[in-house]
Amino acid sequence: MKKTISIIGGGPGAIILASELDPKKYSVSIFEKNTALGRKFLVAGDGGLNLTHSENEKEFVSRYTPKDFLTNAFSHFSNKDLIAWMNDLGIETFVGSSGRIFPKKGIKPIDVLKAMEEKLKQQSVKINFKHEWQGFSETNELIFKTATGNKKIKSDLAVFCLGGASWPVTGSKGDWLTIFKGKGIDVIPFSASNCSFKIEWPKDILKSIEGKPLKNISVKCGNKIHFGEVVITATGIEGSGIYPLSPQIRDELNKKNEAKIFIDLKPDLSFDEMIERISKPVSKISYTEHVVKQLNLNKTQIALLKSKLSKSDFLDPGILVNNLKNLELTIFSLGPIEDAISTVGGISLNEISEKFELKKLPNNFVIGEMLDYDAPTGGYLLQSCFSMGKFLANHLNDRA
Ligand SMILES: Cc1cc2nc3c(=O)[nH]c(=O)nc-3n(C[C@H](O)[C@H](O)[C@H](O)COP(=O)(O)OP(=O)(O)OC[C@H]3O[C@@H](n4cnc5c(N)ncnc54)[C@H](O)[C@@H]3O)c2cc1C
Repeated sequence: MKKTISIIGGGPGAIILASELDPKKYSVSIFEKNTALGRKFLVAGDGGLNLTHSENEKEFVSRYTPKDFLTNAFSHFSNKDLIAWMNDLGIETFVGSSGRIFPKKGIKPIDVLKAMEEKLKQQSVKINFKHEWQGFSETNELIFKTATGNKKIKSDLAVFCLGGASWPVTGSKGDWLTIFKGKGIDVIPFSASNCSFKIEWPKDILKSIEGKPLKNISVKCGNKIHFGEVVITATGIEGSGIYPLSPQIRDELNKKNEAKIFIDLKPDLSFDEMIERISKPVSKISYTEHVVKQLNLNKTQIALLKSKLSKSDFLDPGILVNNLKNLELTIFSLGPIEDAISTVGGISLNEISEKFELKKLPNNFVIGEMLDYDAPTGGYLLQSCFSMGKFLANHLNDRA
């Protein structure tokens, strides 16, 4: 006889899992509190749906903090496998200039979601909308709040795919932490990742720097450096150039209540090259104009430098270049979870087996962003959810 499996939550992790479970072995039901699947998946697509990245396996897996829990799942269903899976659904992809992988131009996020939903249909997955999971009954049945009152569901297996806590308007609120805690499962409070970072800018320069990008820079925190671009906001800094440093910044904030970052505004020029350029004779222009011209500085860079340096420091080539290569900024907190791209926190990785089964609640599994791990933007978040979902589907198909 077929086994019953309840999948709670309807994001990308749940969708691939449900569509890859063998319908001859399992009767599969998804329970989603919203009236539609994949709301966060669609939000993720707003600025271009970055499905995965084209890096090789070793580099790819090194992006996760920690990484060991995902190594098997990724080897089993890698970025190449995800691309092939998408292609099978009729979703062609392309590699962008930064190595990130997107659906081909003209394919919208909703088209990708529809293609995945079509696969669920072909696999006879039952989808129950407006079913909000509330917890377990005394006999470990799943309790759902529905329009017609609470409902208890008994199934052979349950997989939780409830997502993290960022962008709660999409449905993933992380409000289930207390339910698992009540079962004696170790949970970690959520905090923002791939988020904005709060900096108190000097009032006199704010007007000239707010909303301005810093392009082609490197940002360092602790022993990690990342190259890219950031945007200055009224209250801090954000962007793909700093997101990958989220774990280091969070760590420093936890330890010291502040985190130091160091920006190299000119990573393509060495210290000596810059000194050589500004040491050329100045003719008919002010020294500031000379520096701007020789080093190709923009107004935002100048404003940042001037807020840090006294006039005499600015005129000292060594101090000036040091600050251009090592502009120190102090982050005093993470931005709000509501606006973050992802979160860390959730179910502790110590609580799951290699196959994502809860050690204290056998036959119950947890996958996706509800687990306590960190990944930068660049397609790593979605890839991890897809890898875990496919890996678990294959494991459950084998064990049925
Ligand atoms: C602005 C933004 C941009 C992003 N861009 C990218 C990107 O370009 N590339 C990338 O890789 N990642 C991106 N992400 C991250 C990515 O969208 C998530 O990591 C991914 O959606 C997580 O998938 P999941 O299946 O774990 O959970 P989710 O997608 O969060 O899905 C969880 C589902 O569970 C449901 N649910 C929650 N609680 C209950 C309950 N009690 N009962 C029933 N259902 C419930 C929710 O309604 C939701 O549908 C972005 C995220 C955001 C917010």
